[in-house]
Amino acid sequence: MADFDFDLFVIGAGSGGVRAARTAAVTGARVAVAEDRYLGGTCVNVGCVPKKLYSYAAHFHEAFEDAGGFGWHLPEAPHFEWATLRDNKIGEIKRLNEIYAGLLDSAGVRLINGRAHVLDAHHVSVNDETLSAEKILVAVGGWPWVPDFPGNEHVVDSNRIFDLERFPERFLVLGGGYIAVEFASIFNGLGSETHLVYRRELFLRGFDQQVREFARDEMAKKGLQLHFEANIVSIEKVEGGLRVSLTNGEQLEVDTVLAATGRRPNLAGLGLDRLDIALTDTGHLRVNERFETSVPSILALGDVTGGPELTPVALAEAMQLVKHHFEKTQPAPLDYRHIPTAVFCHPNIASVGLSEEQARVACGEIRVYATDFRPMKHTLSGSRERCLMKLVVDDASDVVVGAHMVGEEAGELIQGIAVAVRAGLTKADFDATVGIHPTSAEEFVTLRTPTRR
Ligand SMILES: Cc1cc2nc3c(=O)[nH]c(=O)nc-3n(C[C@H](O)[C@H](O)[C@H](O)COP(=O)(O)OP(=O)(O)OC[C@H]3O[C@@H](n4cnc5c(N)ncnc54)[C@H](O)[C@@H]3O)c2cc1C
Repeated sequence: MADFDFDLFVIGAGSGGVRAARTAAVTGARVAVAEDRYLGGTCVNVGCVPKKLYSYAAHFHEAFEDAGGFGWHLPEAPHFEWATLRDNKIGEIKRLNEIYAGLLDSAGVRLINGRAHVLDAHHVSVNDETLSAEKILVAVGGWPWVPDFPGNEHVVDSNRIFDLERFPERFLVLGGGYIAVEFASIFNGLGSETHLVYRRELFLRGFDQQVREFARDEMAKKGLQLHFEANIVSIEKVEGGLRVSLTNGEQLEVDTVLAATGRRPNLAGLGLDRLDIALTDTGHLRVNERFETSVPSILALGDVTGGPELTPVALAEAMQLVKHHFEKTQPAPLDYRHIPTAVFCHPNIASVGLSEEQARVACGEIRVYATDFRPMKHTLSGSRERCLMKLVVDDASDVVVGAHMVGEEAGELIQGIAVAVRAGLTKADFDATVGIHPTSAEEFVTLRTPTRR
């Protein structure tokens, strides 16, 4: 071991890379991290953090409208200033970048600014320096992918959308995953005329069907224009904007087109092809339970391995990896079945466990408890927004196998329910829990009659 410059060389200072580097260093390992772009990776710079800040900004639109019914009247119609939001966001992210640098520094991790290339199982090069390490961790994340069609040079991807020079009065997003749905809600809320174009019949594949349909209807109520079973044929630059031609014959004129059409592992030029490393069918790095690739000294985690592409998953994998390789313990395998997840569209969606459709296959007999109601706040606000809450129960064992919500702060609420679902609690446990009144959340412990079986 002493022959190597480092015990661990991490490529990529994103969610997973930084956590792995810091926790490994705490065990006494000599660790270096190479980062060629931004500290904190996708989540901090062009993902979770700026997106949530923009989602907060978009929510103010409704807050101003809701306020009237409670007696609040604004002296003049509020107007939105894109540059203020964008530049305040830039300032906040700069602050976070510095915090990340400080965290690495205080853990004794050497940070190298530059693009790393893997030379062999124990060597990397960065900025013309060759360094050796007993273990190399590939934590390079993913990169947006844009489909090929005439005029695709006019689209922006999720890396560029946050820093647009001008606010798009007319906005179109292509895609049906959570990133597409979130940006559609954000720009709709900020005041753009917003279109979402998706080639299948409904967005958010993999989520509970009732949740998807409910979210579709709520988003349409807010004025979002949804074009399902349609795709972009071409984009043409015209005076004052972009003309987008769709496969259904429609033509839309907009200022900005966001392609939120998926992300691919960020492996180009990394050098791993030289090592003939094993990939999955989707082109991600294949790893075992110890996060080892087919070259055992090369480890990988996070988005580049093709698991659930979420920051808390990358963090959990990093800590698990350090337990295996540096604390030399045998941790129980990570539980990927009960990963709660939120979509910050408006209203928010959050889910944990199985959808109704998955539960029917996995459990056979199930009970579904669902309620769809007007939240108390909207009795005075005048908003037509409704809330959906749903529990999916395995009939034989009474275990709650799935919980779903569409409504304000769904992520905040489902995070707590996720503990109960992961612990395998039964519907009887939910029923025996006293509610907090008056909240929307209390519905989750007062759903007494099955909606269907
Ligand atoms: C728009 C958007 C919104 C999202 N919202 C959420 C959310 O709300 N909640 C959530 O949990 N997740 C969200 N995610 C996903 C989340 O950001 C990722 O799952 C997470 O960042 C993955 O972490 P990672 O460590 O695998 O990679 P990343 O965080 O992507 O970090 C990889 C790092 O490696 C660097 N790098 C790459 N190649 C090299 C090289 N050769 N040399 C040096 N450095 C290199 C990159 O510059 C980058 O900094 C979102 C993603 C996007 C795009």
